[in-house]
Amino acid sequence: MSKTITRQSEDFSRWYTDVVQKAELADYSPVKGCMVICPYGYSIWESIQRELDGRIKATGCRNAYFPLFIPESFINKEKSHLEGFSPECAVVTHAGGEELQEKLVVRPTSETIIYYMFSKWVKSYRDLPLLINQWANVVRWEMRTRLFLRTSEFLWQEGHTAHATYEEAEARTLQMLDEYASFAENFLAIPVIKGVKSDHERFAGAHRTYTIEALMRDKKCLQAGTSHNLGQNFSRPFEITFLDNEGKTQYAWQTSWGVSTRLIGALVMVHGDDRGLILPPAVAPIQVVMVPIWKNDGQKEEIIRMLGGLTTDIKNAGLRVEQDLRENVTPGFKFNDWEMRGVPLRVECGPKDLEEKTVVLCRRDTGTKEKIPLADLTGKCVELMPVIQNSLLERARLFLKENITEVNNKEELAAVLEDKGGLVSAHWCHGHSCEDIIKQETKATLRCIPCDAPTEMGSCVICGQPSEKRVLFARSY
Ligand SMILES: [Zn+2]
Repeated sequence: MSKTITRQSEDFSRWYTDVVQKAELADYSPVKGCMVICPYGYSIWESIQRELDGRIKATGCRNAYFPLFIPESFINKEKSHLEGFSPECAVVTHAGGEELQEKLVVRPTSETIIYYMFSKWVKSYRDLPLLINQWANVVRWEMRTRLFLRTSEFLWQEGHTAHATYEEAEARTLQMLDEYASFAENFLAIPVIKGVKSDHERFAGAHRTYTIEALMRDKKCLQAGTSHNLGQNFSRPFEITFLDNEGKTQYAWQTSWGVSTRLIGALVMVHGDDRGLILPPAVAPIQVVMVPIWKNDGQKEEIIRMLGGLTTDIKNAGLRVEQDLRENVTPGFKFNDWEMRGVPLRVECGPKDLEEKTVVLCRRDTGTKEKIPLADLTGKCVELMPVIQNSLLERARLFLKENITEVNNKEELAAVLEDKGGLVSAHWCHGHSCEDIIKQETKATLRCIPCDAPTEMGSCVICGQPSEKRVLFARSY
């Protein structure tokens, strides 16, 4: 079985698909638009879930689970939510051999079903804030499949909260945005830009949508997570009301926020190279892989015994380690295979190492190989984990920084997007028609108005009207 893949420089999109399939992260399913997440890919998702779940709970949220099916009338209650989601909804019309009296929508997101329940649970200001998170699958019909990036069904977490005041809801929206940004940077080694979506790009039904945007190695942008201040847009139609401390009835203020299995696509496209995936140690399901090399059975036994001892030591030091004892493939094949899967460290041990009481330690991120005395191996592995994690983050930070280009007119904007790619930082008047012209002419969308954009007087690159801040445009996934 050949593990060769398309080069990034040749065709990034094919490189991506090759890596996802050859690293056995995901595969195409018999149902068009859907994907199968393979065990190795799923173990990355579990690693993401474990860490993020802990972080979400630490902010005071509790997990719950709501039904997959939503009565059609619920979706119809909030007008822009309906308009935004109905084109991509899958709808159940028959069940149990009969036509249903009310059609059921397979959740594209769960605001409506969760807020129906919130309206029962919230009575008084003492019930607030209500902080709920759900891990679930959602369905948004897609005909073009891009594994992890665009599929009809995907996995995610969706947080939903209700608060007594607008200010509290806005603070929660920003808190979760910060959580996502910190998770992306510190756990996935993916630097992100925090910002606000334009009115046109915001979530269907939201008052304001915040986003974290990441830049892939092909210089296209990926929305990696969103956090919405919903205002009272859902609490009014769903009648989520509470008695405030003066006994007056008020509508609750709400937020929702989510990240999905898209993050796995981002990991592939931010860190990967022509040899395959490169996983940051924090998220890697296997952090160290041990590969024995033997020529005859006598050596084999001794080498495996030695590797077994080393494996136990590394495991006891708290790292996730595995031995590759497959008999039917060559060491060379194993090296390529683990490189494809992005395991941060590989330990090679052959007959010569056995004699010299050494092993060879290989770093996936830099490709460097080093001879290490046996006694130093565990310590060295532990020491390298944060070093690799930081080096991947720094590399991605530098790449992001180098690929944000300031432009001052329409021609520059178009030229940079065409020749250099990446993000362009430009003045914009907040008009939807100017945003639309840019999209029509360059295929770039307004990614966000960065949270930390300084005030700077300028004029819209399309219409020339005054602008107070630069915003970011890019082609995206
Ligand atoms: Zn304009």
